[in-house]
Amino acid sequence: MKAAPILGTQLFADHPAYADDDIDVFFFIEARSSFVKRRYHAHKRVLILAGMRQTSSRLEADGRTVGRVPLAEGSGFADALRRLIREFGVDGLAWMSATDRGVDGRIRGICDDEGIATRVYDDALFLTRAEEVDRWFAEHEGARMEDFYRWQRRRTGILMDGGKPAGRRWNFDAENREPLPKGGVEIPPLPIGPADEVTAGAIADVGRHFPDAPGDPTEFWLPVTPETSRSWLDAFVTERLASFGRYEDAMDADEAFLFHGVLSPLLNVGLLTVDEVVRAAVGRRGEVPLASLEGFVRQVIGWREYMRGAYRAWPELMHANRFALRRSLEDWWYTGEGVPEDLPVPVRTVLARVIRHGYAHHIERLMVLGNWFLLQGYDPREVYEWFSSLFVDAYEWVMVPNVQGMSQYADGGRVATKLYISGGAYLQRMGSWWSSDKAARDSAFTDAYWTFLDEHEDQLTGNPRLNMPLAQMRRRRASG
Ligand code: FAD
Repeated sequence: MKAAPILGTQLFADHPAYADDDIDVFFFIEARSSFVKRRYHAHKRVLILAGMRQTSSRLEADGRTVGRVPLAEGSGFADALRRLIREFGVDGLAWMSATDRGVDGRIRGICDDEGIATRVYDDALFLTRAEEVDRWFAEHEGARMEDFYRWQRRRTGILMDGGKPAGRRWNFDAENREPLPKGGVEIPPLPIGPADEVTAGAIADVGRHFPDAPGDPTEFWLPVTPETSRSWLDAFVTERLASFGRYEDAMDADEAFLFHGVLSPLLNVGLLTVDEVVRAAVGRRGEVPLASLEGFVRQVIGWREYMRGAYRAWPELMHANRFALRRSLEDWWYTGEGVPEDLPVPVRTVLARVIRHGYAHHIERLMVLGNWFLLQGYDPREVYEWFSSLFVDAYEWVMVPNVQGMSQYADGGRVATKLYISGGAYLQRMGSWWSSDKAARDSAFTDAYWTFLDEHEDQLTGNPRLNMPLAQMRRRRASG
């Protein structure tokens, strides 16, 4: 008998195992050990649990054989897999290569112990095969994102017109930096649907088994089937994509999602594929501004795939700590309770949002949370743990390059060419967080910014992108 374990991050409607005539049974393991590895947000736990249960129910309804180990049994993944292998008399196992390091090796080790044959399908979470990405990183000095992105466009033909980039430009970033207009703008709400019976069961189980998880499981808001995920994607491309680019960097004290896709939680577990997301967006060409379309495509086929390549190419990112920062995160970062009164308003607001939804959009992650963590001297490894625990879309392959690399500059500038730090003025320009520009300039955020530049002057000197802020800091220091 041949079996295929379906991992919680591989909920593809067209998982290759389903079309593989060799496979007799599909395994779904709700391993307690995986759910308690960190203090994961309740919504992340519901997403995986409900997604696995929806997938296995669909297979059973199609007359396929399923082997399950329910969460209530409290098993570890390895023990549960061994048990299923023996129970079903399995002599061969096929699984999809996992993106995070170590998973494939652990499954292979179990198969070797049990003396059964193995086969691995390619990782379908990305457009680019792992070997191709590895080759690109190996062959390109410095391996910069902009070069990677152009390679992706050329290679795939996405947004290309006869060998030239659509609109004759590779990058429309300069047009994508507007704050929301003063008079406000209508933001279409996310099409959050009611939980069906399977999802309601997962919500109840998460409440019962993990009562201390951050977030309220009953407020779960994400789709968990390929069909509802496609409707979610359709709503994005028809209602929000047109304004995505323009307001990509905007922030608002009252609006969590703005014009973002909110697709990463689904893309990262296979409920949507990169291919269908890109097709849906490019299908709107001519109806939405090219700057929006190109900006979105760059995030998905550029940044997302580049980060996965960086994770594979540079394993040392995981433990990087360029500034030797050592501060530990206080417990209120996980609970949202007892938050200090002097925490700057953007940080306080975004933290409350993260506790509520397990989500914040990119510029909030980078310029509010990441910025504050770095300015405050928190240990990048602790920052990584926090992001990995609290975000519904968090996995090692994407968190390591985004946190240690892009946001905390712990790698000294390998992933990002610049340091993403700022004082209150930038945040005020993009989000009107304070009552006035003066209040923003006089805020604790601004103080922390100048202090950081001062304290790390030696390490930062020589980076051409920091010449101006360092010169300003020296003038301020000289004038007392
Ligand atoms: P949109 O703004 O609609 O962008 C579209 C898509 O582009 C996203 O769904 C995502 O798949 C992709 N994308 C854009 N930028 C990146 C990037 N830098 N890395 C990877 N994919 C990208 N992304 C995750 O998927 N999981 C994470 O755990 C995660 N943690 C992050 C932590 C920090 C500190 C930072 C700075 C960024 C992080 N990102 C992470 C990247 C990015 O912020 C999220 O992908 C994005 O905010 C998800 O929301 P969205 O789907 O609404 O994105």
